[in-house]
Amino acid sequence: MRLDKLLANMGYGSRKEVKQLLKQKAVSVDGTYVKDAAMHVDPEKQDVSVFGERVLYTEFVYYMMNKPPGVISATEDLRDETVIDLLEPLHQHFQPFPVGRLDKDTEGLLLLTNDGVLAHNLLSPKKHVPKVYYALIEGIVTESDGEAFARGVELDDGYITKPGELVILKSAQQSEIELTIQEGKFHQVKRMFEAVGKRVTYLKRLSMGSLKLDDSLELGAYRELTIEELASLQ
Ligand code: URA
Repeated sequence: MRLDKLLANMGYGSRKEVKQLLKQKAVSVDGTYVKDAAMHVDPEKQDVSVFGERVLYTEFVYYMMNKPPGVISATEDLRDETVIDLLEPLHQHFQPFPVGRLDKDTEGLLLLTNDGVLAHNLLSPKKHVPKVYYALIEGIVTESDGEAFARGVELDDGYITKPGELVILKSAQQSEIELTIQEGKFHQVKRMFEAVGKRVTYLKRLSMGSLKLDDSLELGAYRELTIEELASLQ
């Protein structure tokens, strides 16, 4: 890989800024200062350092975000802020994208990565990756709603959902529930409740497969996955 591309990819600035670094003799390869932006390097085998600090090369990035309401789960949008806009420029550099979509008003766990294979595996309907949602519901949620979800309910477009598991945390005029589903149809949780005559007023994703939302992440905050979290997803 070209030296300037590597450094730009790793967040050391634009190609132009990287050229400035090279001019300043800030960059060394295996202990020797290098000025040639076009030099080919193998970051896994060679010691590429900037101001004496080794550049640790990564191709893939994995971030867990606590998605806030009001932002779009997309890489770009003409009108609204996207989850990518919430990332620092250094992290945007890797061109991550959200794995699946949460509605604009939905909060909670969103995985952002540039690893297309992992994203595909998590989203593939064949893999049945369970997703757990917490929701507030207008209306009294009952065991018979749970039985309906366990059998599968018919959505407004005629689609019959696969079995979902409902846990009723509070059954009242405003109910509180957790729902586990293994598919990800458009607005699925909201439409499942519509199918039983109720309305979701607040929705938050708690987990996706083995990955659980880190409670310490404020809305809009994100962090890299730990090695253990990543290993358990693969
Ligand atoms: N189901 C929904 O209705 N909305 C989401 O954002 C996710 C699941």
